[in-house]
Amino acid sequence: MNRRNSNHPNGINQYREQFLTALRQRSLADIKKIPKADLHNHFLLGGNREYINEKTGVAIPPLRKKLESMEAMHQWVGENVGDLFDGEEKRILAIEACFQQAKEDGVSVLDIGEDVWANGYYYQKDIDRLIETFHRVHKNIAPEIEFRFQIGLSRHCKIELLEAWIEPFLEKDCFHSIDLYSDELAQPITNFKKIYRKAKERGLILKAHAGEWGDANSVKQAVEELELNEVQHGIAAADSVKIMYWLADNNIQLNVCPTSNVMLGRVEKFKKHPIRRLYDHGVRVTVNSDDVLVFGQSVSEEYLKLYQEKVFNPEELEIIRNYGLQRF
Ligand SMILES: [Zn+2]
Repeated sequence: MNRRNSNHPNGINQYREQFLTALRQRSLADIKKIPKADLHNHFLLGGNREYINEKTGVAIPPLRKKLESMEAMHQWVGENVGDLFDGEEKRILAIEACFQQAKEDGVSVLDIGEDVWANGYYYQKDIDRLIETFHRVHKNIAPEIEFRFQIGLSRHCKIELLEAWIEPFLEKDCFHSIDLYSDELAQPITNFKKIYRKAKERGLILKAHAGEWGDANSVKQAVEELELNEVQHGIAAADSVKIMYWLADNNIQLNVCPTSNVMLGRVEKFKKHPIRRLYDHGVRVTVNSDDVLVFGQSVSEEYLKLYQEKVFNPEELEIIRNYGLQRF
């Protein structure tokens, strides 16, 4: 179901030299022209600032200092974004802004979707309405992007509620992946086994946030318990050589967001980001945006910074770019 052959002939090889040159010339404009994936993007805070400003008159200021914690991030979002996306019409604005951002950044594969609780809150418990909304915006703003529809779960929500809310989603064939996010320490990962078994039966790509706030073992545990294909962040795995090799052996992909990790105080310096160590131990990593509206770095900007800060050379970044485009 919904599993396109995404070998992306247009994104591979054809763009190799162009990408290498764009990096060496430090040309953000040229990096933006190269196809790339964004597989870790929370659409609600993934929107384009200019687009939002144009539509609402609201100018969301850039983040000027590190936030250091999720609480600090929530506070910043409360102060600077507020209820801008609260309500069905405003929720649509957020989806539009996200596709606009991806389009301007040259993202060619975008994995985003709605949180299961939102179906009742914004779409009148009508799953078809929710699905149609995303497809309509995709078609109107950036039909050239391969949109992979994700089902989202907030880890702090009661498991019984999540199990009920996800049912209408699992009855549909249009979803590509599932992700578990928000407070990583809210409840044990084992609570989500039942949901992930069902998602697996439905053929979804299984992802979950782990190892952003938790330790290396929590990454392995999440992969084992939920049978994950991909981990969102997973950077704590770099603390254990054994677990890095285990991830590499099992071909588990980590969808990493370097700037987010620095701005939330999970990594001391961009230059020292563990994505390098993970890569050197054979772990398959990709580069993504997380919440561009907060952290201010697009996927193209992440690639440029990883080069400028000498975390990777252009050839390595080309390999990483292809990891994002090649799978599934
Ligand atoms: Zn995230």
